[in-house]
Amino acid sequence: MGKRDKKRREWLARKGDHERRALYQRAARLRKAAAEPARRRRKGPSFGEDEEGGFERLGRRRSGSLEEWVERLRAEEAPGSGAPQEPELVEATTDGTVIWLGPGRARVLLDAGGELECLLCPEIAVTQRSDLAVGDRVAVSETEEVARVEAVLARRTALSRLDPGGGRPIERVIAANVDAVVVVVATRTPPLRRRLVDRFLVAVERGGARPILCLAKIDLLESEPALDELLETLGPYRELGIPVLACSSVSGRGLPELRAALAGRTCVLVGQSGVGKSSLLNALDPRLGLETREISQSVGKGRHTTTASELLRLEGDIRVIDTPGIREFGLFDLTREELRWYFHEFDAPAQSCRFGDCSHVHEPDCGVREAVAAGGVAEARYDSYQRLLASIPEASR
Ligand code: GDP
Ligand code: ZN
Repeated sequence: MGKRDKKRREWLARKGDHERRALYQRAARLRKAAAEPARRRRKGPSFGEDEEGGFERLGRRRSGSLEEWVERLRAEEAPGSGAPQEPELVEATTDGTVIWLGPGRARVLLDAGGELECLLCPEIAVTQRSDLAVGDRVAVSETEEVARVEAVLARRTALSRLDPGGGRPIERVIAANVDAVVVVVATRTPPLRRRLVDRFLVAVERGGARPILCLAKIDLLESEPALDELLETLGPYRELGIPVLACSSVSGRGLPELRAALAGRTCVLVGQSGVGKSSLLNALDPRLGLETREISQSVGKGRHTTTASELLRLEGDIRVIDTPGIREFGLFDLTREELRWYFHEFDAPAQSCRFGDCSHVHEPDCGVREAVAAGGVAEARYDSYQRLLASIPEASR
């Protein structure tokens, strides 16, 4: 992002929603006027017409990006200048949600209704893989020939994964504005991996979404006590306030509860391959017909071959973002200090650690380790913490 872009984003962030919207509308109107033939433009706003430079030139062939016009408005804004108020042109830009994203293109579900196939403005296209994700709220401009995503609006939440790339790892936002992340684990095949769950929980909280734990394939358990026993081991999560649901896509048990937990929300399902995510989605809405393991194996090709990301709309007002990268989302740029704050059961016992910056591993008089010994903090969670800590290089301090 250029310095100018950064300044503009900060400037926009200081404005209220209404004012920001009005600005984009005004910029879009000016942009449109610049694109019109000169004859018609005479009647239009005079903004930019006395300019020799960039915008007029751009205006002859293409009108420039909306962000460029917003930038102009920013430059114009001076205290007490009393810039002439443009009447608002309501249809100039519309807001919507990105429901599908492919190379250089997006499909946007407009707030006003309907879907629009859009190109991405050059600034966004260049940084697409880090700057735009399914679920993002965007401002879209539309002319007779083309619809374009002009700006990405502020995100409520963002799930990211670390892309090692060539050199320095880059944060890739893989889903935006997600309300709930369902961490799916199976009763067996594959066996429950608690550390993976803990890792997901940290990443979910960092991204600002709400976690839900879903124990899938409960039909594979031989008895009711076996289910109770397994749920008991998930007790520490329940104590942390994380909803724990038990489901089977085969018997249908627990599906109403899952449906209720997700209604009206945008969510994402994460978990190891084979835990039954696609089967759960199919069970929630049979119209989806997502590929599950048997099907993909029977036709002898790999799963999740799609490179596009999309937002699925399920029965019961449930929105699910399905992207190839979602299954690997990890811990971006997490420091060793930060990690301990995501293990909330440490919060209270940490009050009695001798050192304020106690890492709860080797220090004497550690309240957390005492709590683990006394059974107040689940050993399995403490074990996860230690292993996660060990996986973060010292250098990131
Ligand atoms: P994903 O990789 O997480 O999307 O998992 P899939 O939905 O493809 O399921 C993996 C395998 O588990 C498939 O063979 C499914 O038939 C099976 N499976 C999924 N859900 C259930 C369930 O609730 N009960 C049982 N018995 N098998 C299931
Ligand atoms: Zn400590």
